[in-house]
Amino acid sequence: MPIPTEDARFLPADQLTSLVAGLMAIGYRCIGPAVEQGAIVMRPLDTPALPRGLQAEQQPGSYRVGRDPHDRYFAWANGPQAIKPLTFAPQEAMWRVERNAAGTLQFAAVLPPAERLAVIGVRACDLAALALQDAHFLREGRRDTHYARRREQLFLVAVQCAVPAATCFCASTGDGPTPTSGFDLALAELADGFVATAGSDAGRAVLATLGLAPATSQQCEAARQQGVAAASAQTRRMPGGLRETLMSRLEHPRWDDVAARCLACGNCTAVCPTCFCHAEADAPALDGRSSEHARNWDSCFGESHGHLHGTNVRPDIRTRYRQWLTHKLATWHDQFGRSGCVGCGRCIAWCPVGIDLTEEVAALTGGSDQRAPESGKGAA
Ligand code: SF4
Ligand code: SF4
Repeated sequence: MPIPTEDARFLPADQLTSLVAGLMAIGYRCIGPAVEQGAIVMRPLDTPALPRGLQAEQQPGSYRVGRDPHDRYFAWANGPQAIKPLTFAPQEAMWRVERNAAGTLQFAAVLPPAERLAVIGVRACDLAALALQDAHFLREGRRDTHYARRREQLFLVAVQCAVPAATCFCASTGDGPTPTSGFDLALAELADGFVATAGSDAGRAVLATLGLAPATSQQCEAARQQGVAAASAQTRRMPGGLRETLMSRLEHPRWDDVAARCLACGNCTAVCPTCFCHAEADAPALDGRSSEHARNWDSCFGESHGHLHGTNVRPDIRTRYRQWLTHKLATWHDQFGRSGCVGCGRCIAWCPVGIDLTEEVAALTGGSDQRAPESGKGAA
């Protein structure tokens, strides 16, 4: 899909700092790329200047930060984090209970601070993942207050991915590499600046303060072609229409093969921008007068995640990997009307043994099931 170019403006490269400074001036805490422990992560910015020339080479089980020979701002594909930790916190208190002087228990919600955050450098796949997280956490009648409070404060500056990683396959899922919706501002980086488009009233207001000239038709076309080239450069793909096929292959021998390689470490679920499983736990104070109820990210690869009513419905890695893959690519359709995979490729790069989701799907769906389904058995 082309970048929306109606009302597009041209932001010279040396004015990117003005955009970030403008967001800071109107009260946003800005989050942008930074290198930490050998990876490009999103961190609060101390100054409006963004780092240039970062790039990351990604392969199954491998991630290396490098240098972009063209010294661009956004020549890196996604790092290990998406927006997910900013809206669905990895660990947070939900409520607290205290015993007062009269011995009565008093419950109080623990809400996160309502902080205005501007995230600079959001990818199209992450916008698609955020829409899926919205569908889960903001659904009618089950609105999650903690998620909603953070989500309402977000200002999203998306960027077109001009240099996808070898692990990316967002073009085949229809989620990238060019952002088309769900952002406040979208930037497509050209040699001397950015084609900038507003996607919300807040984005239009910020763009208007910069006094930019309209982008020319040549600049808009260059941005469009850059997106087409980035999509063509992706070598991995995820086929559509997997629901029925995968659910008919629940006893395929490939599950044993992948289980022999998988460490059940849960890295893939931690980096996945759409995974939302969590566990809740109480932490009572030692004096017995108070207790805090917390929510922590959890993973379907964890042994405890399959415990239900005194039994474990996923007792081994085979059933846990199968649960993850079939939920993500098959039964997610029943819950949310689409696949739960947006093609970001993180689970491939950050799997310590290099298990590649696209390769597993090809093995599972190529040819017919080689083993007769066991009666009464299915993905848990
Ligand atoms: S399943 Fe893998 S490729 Fe798909 S969205 Fe999650 S981390 Fe990204
Ligand atoms: S697929 Fe890879 S990242 Fe996921 S649990 Fe198994 S070893 Fe860990």
